[in-house]
This record gives sequence, C-alpha cells and structure tokens, in this order.
Amino acid sequence: MSGRELDFIHDAFASNWIAPIGPHVDAFEKEFCRVTGAPFAAAVSSGTAALHLALLLADVGPGDDVACSTFTFAGSAFPIVYRGATPVFVDSEEQSWNMDPRLLEDAMVDRKKKGKRVKAVVVVHLYGQSADLDEIAVICGRHDSILIEDAAESLGATYKGKTTGTMGRIGIFSFNGNKIVTTSGGGMLVSGDTALVDKARFLATQARDPAPHYEHSCVGYNYRMSNVLAGIGRAQLGVLQERVAAKRRIFAAYREALSPMPGFDFMPEADWGVPNRWLTCVTIDPAKAGFSAEDVRLRLEAANIEGRPLWKPMHLQPVFSGAPAFVNGISEELFAKGLCLPSGTAMTNEDLERVIACVKSVGK
Ligand SMILES: *Cc1c(COP(=O)(O)O)cnc(C)c1O
Repeated sequence: MSGRELDFIHDAFASNWIAPIGPHVDAFEKEFCRVTGAPFAAAVSSGTAALHLALLLADVGPGDDVACSTFTFAGSAFPIVYRGATPVFVDSEEQSWNMDPRLLEDAMVDRKKKGKRVKAVVVVHLYGQSADLDEIAVICGRHDSILIEDAAESLGATYKGKTTGTMGRIGIFSFNGNKIVTTSGGGMLVSGDTALVDKARFLATQARDPAPHYEHSCVGYNYRMSNVLAGIGRAQLGVLQERVAAKRRIFAAYREALSPMPGFDFMPEADWGVPNRWLTCVTIDPAKAGFSAEDVRLRLEAANIEGRPLWKPMHLQPVFSGAPAFVNGISEELFAKGLCLPSGTAMTNEDLERVIACVKSVGK
C-alpha cells in the first residue's frame, strides 16, 4: 500500500457509501481511463469477472470456439468455459513469450475447416509484456474474430507507445492482491465502445431493467466493485508509475547479477513495447548450468524465499485435456526451465542481495 489508501477508505466510511457502487467507483473508472488512455471503463469484482463479461459482450456462447494463449494463468481460460464455449489454445513465440501470430492463423484456418468459428481471441500479455498485437489484430480482422486483451498482469506496460489492454475491442485488468497495483481483489473492463461498457455495468449489477420495481429480461451477475475497494484503487493508481519503475529496477538488478551464470537467460524484451516486469522470470538450461530451475527453487525455499515455476501451459492442465491446442514446444520448454524470482516492490536492496546470493550458491 502507498499510505494514501486509508484516506479514501475513511472518506467512504464518512459518506456511508459502503456499497457495490458509489462515488469512489465512478472516480476510479475515470482516473483509470486517464492513466491508461482507455476511453471507457467499468470497475468489477475481479479480472476473471471482467473477462466473463467481455466474452458475454462478444456474444460468445455454447458451440463457439475462443482462441486463447496456452502460456497463461487459468483465469484467462476459465471464463471461456463459463460461456459453454471451447478454448482453443495457441502457443508462444520467442520474442515476448506471448501468443504466436502464425500459430493463431493456423488455428483459425484449421478450426474453420472443421466447421467451427473462432468467435473471439483472448490474447494475454504475460508477466507484464505485450504480445505482438498488430499482427494478432490483423488475423482477428481477417477471420472476423473479436480481440479481447487480458492485461491482468500488464497494467503500465506499453505496445508501440500505447497502454496494453486498450487496443482490442475489449480489455480486462486485475487488481488481485498479487498484481502490480491492487484493491485486494478487483478488476476493470475497458473498451472504446461506450455502449459495450454500459452493458457490462448493467450485466454486472444483476441486469436490472429501468423500472421502479425489479424487472429482468436477461440473466445478470453480481460483479460490481465495492466503493471501499475502489477507494484503495484510486490511491494505488497514484503509485503505478513508481511501481513499474521499481519492478524494472528489480529485473535489471537480477539480470546484472545473474546473467553471467552459465545457462541463465532472462525474459526477453520485444522491441515493440516496454514491459512492466511484473515478475522477474529467468530460464535455466540444466545442461549448461549443471542444475535446474527446480534445484534453485528448492534452495530458495530452504532459505524461506519463495520462487515459483512459470505458468504451466493450459494445454497440459488436466482440466483442459480434451481441448484443441496448436503448440510448438515453446511454452512447454519455458515451463520446464523457468522460474519466477521474488519481485515485490517492497523488497529492500538487502533482500535482493540475499536472493541473488542464494541463487548463486546453487551447484556450489
Ligand atoms: C490474475 C490474472 C487473471 C485473473 O484476475 P483475477 O482478478 O485474479 O480474477 C486473469 N488472467 C491473468 C493472466 C492473470 O494473471
């Protein structure tokens, strides 16, 4: 927390707006638009809820296909199943570790041959780095698919100077506790189409038709953000740029200290954008290093330091075992060799030095 959050929370209490709507929610949405350049935004209860709404707005339903990055967190893919649609997983390219446009094209063509329609594409900007959006947008245009950006991890990152999440038809963000800024739990849906965002708000507040009584002509959801949490979000937005700078400093420090180690490679930075470096990700080639990423993780764990493997690809998850997947081995290799290093912005230089020393001690 930045310290200013309590002022906003006190304000919510003083005004007695302890509700899933209110002035902080309205202000948070406006300020979020100002910070990201998104034209319109609706604050909701989670990133997953935002993506569920995005798929509803894209008119995705039973029988439809939705292409999705395989190298991601399950929150990108579960909402596709909520809609009764089929996720079609697409592997990564090497420059950014995100969805490979060529494989997406293959997936589109193959599914069409099978009589299926890829109604939407959920492209993820993993670990705070943008996917190759222009290429992906062209493919979506050619196949009449709606582009949805999962920018849950990439708030503050850019693609050709624009904020990730604001270039697709719909974008979603997360303010879960582990993200670069947080409301403890929360999400945002953005779009350039004001009617879509209005509809998201309507669906997120139990789809109440305009009437003095409770009238419903479609199914709704209870997905709005609380006014108290929106207050936290307003204060957090104020430190976003600081957080991005701190994350990038942490990444640079790890890279400087550890890239001379044999077999160590850091997540690349594609020339199309500036990542927020949400988590510092390293890959370790055991043939060159003499030890594996898992050896490092276990050594860190023994020192009470938390490291994590990279996301396990969705096409390898038991829950998605039957889903179509267009793979090239890249996400599987990243999962086998990768490790997320501690990247919290509250880390001190001493903390960083301790992690670095611990990693360096492996194999000695
Ligand atoms: C965190 C995350 C989500 C889900 O966001 P929640 O707010 O936790 O529901 C979706 N996609 C990705 C890539 C994420 O990292």
